[in-house]
Amino acid sequence: MAKFIGIVTINENLCKGCGLCARACPKQIIELSKEKINAKGYHPATVVRPEECIACASCAKTCPDAVIRVEREVKEEQ
Ligand code: SF4
Ligand code: SF4
Repeated sequence: MAKFIGIVTINENLCKGCGLCARACPKQIIELSKEKINAKGYHPATVVRPEECIACASCAKTCPDAVIRVEREVKEEQ
């Protein structure tokens, strides 16, 4: 059976570090980076376990600044 995987792209330089996407993710795979600071001076959101993404796009819909893009790909079961 085919499953979906998501490829999440976050424009880190436009992120304001609000954390709403991290709270919206049902898989809890988004965190605010502790190490990085972006051009605006915020800790940007980053996907810490991209292989667990289910392409639900909750993060992209929740982001108030629309800086997240989710592409959905079909993953064939082995
Ligand atoms: S698409 Fe869904 S599972 Fe993937 S990072 Fe966004 S909220 Fe999480
Ligand atoms: S919801 Fe958007 S602005 Fe807020 S932390 Fe996530 S990517 Fe950054």
